[in-house]
Amino acid sequence: MAKIIDGKAISSQIKDEVKEKVAELAAKGISVSLAVIQVGADPASSVYVRNKKKACEYCGIKSLSYELPEETTEEELLDLIRKLNKMDDCNGILVQLPLPKHINEEIILDEISPLKDVDGFHPMNVGALSIGKPGYVSCTPAGVIELIKRSGYTIEGKECVVIGRSNIVGKPMALLLLRENGTVTVTHSRTKNLKEVTKRADILVVAIGKPRMIDASYVKEGAVVIDVGIHRNEDNKLCGDVDYDSVEPIAEAITPVPGGVGPMTIAMLMKNCLTYFDVAK
Ligand code: NAD
Repeated sequence: MAKIIDGKAISSQIKDEVKEKVAELAAKGISVSLAVIQVGADPASSVYVRNKKKACEYCGIKSLSYELPEETTEEELLDLIRKLNKMDDCNGILVQLPLPKHINEEIILDEISPLKDVDGFHPMNVGALSIGKPGYVSCTPAGVIELIKRSGYTIEGKECVVIGRSNIVGKPMALLLLRENGTVTVTHSRTKNLKEVTKRADILVVAIGKPRMIDASYVKEGAVVIDVGIHRNEDNKLCGDVDYDSVEPIAEAITPVPGGVGPMTIAMLMKNCLTYFDVAK
């Protein structure tokens, strides 16, 4: 029986730590605030935005809400970001993705000041991560590191295999595991003999976007398995990229879906709202 890594409990712990730090800053007269921008009314995005604002409220972070109509132009959105970049009482900027098709996401994300880039998507922060400098780190992979460490597992010297090489999850995940002194292999859709590689992993992080693709035949006995994937199955139930029922009996530890990586993303966003006070010094 694998240990179940409890993302809900660990994310609550992190939010409580952030709440404490926010209160310490407030006592010194410093307020923490996050600008959340949503363009259009995509229902899934509205749920994410609502949850982010709720988490801000819990932690004592002021959320500045910008709900813009679908017809907002790229230039109007850029103007708002430029204004927020300069605003002293805004120390984090988040643009909820996806944006409407007529707006170029890359242009928008690049305009966010690297000092307020709480999602960690700006090329300057991605570069900082790759050369080991301080900066903002993408929330989901940063959350995976917290899950592993706070569950009592060490990364140093371990064979770590990441499946997926996206800019948001796979690549920063590999860099973070490397920063923790893991021996890291990144696999992807063109990897040959995927099972041979994944079966070497002491720590296997799965971020493919394919429901339940990774069954026990991909996993070494005793591995720590982290499932980043999130999908709705035929019965409208949530499932991950890992076939949980098949892998759980042979793993040392595993994250469930829901209740594993999912809750960590928002917790790490809250933590990132404090990063400004380190990077802007
Ligand atoms: P993506 O589609 O951008 O990237 C998927 C990666 O998987 C690609 O690099 C691709 O090469 C690789 N891949 C695809 N098919 C493969 C195969 N057959 N074998 C090996 N590799 C293969 O996805 P993403 O944005 O990295 O997200 C991955 C999953 O994580 C999705 O299910 C997404 O919904 C989920 N996700 C969850 C959170 C969270 O907060 N829990 C956050 C981000 C993403």
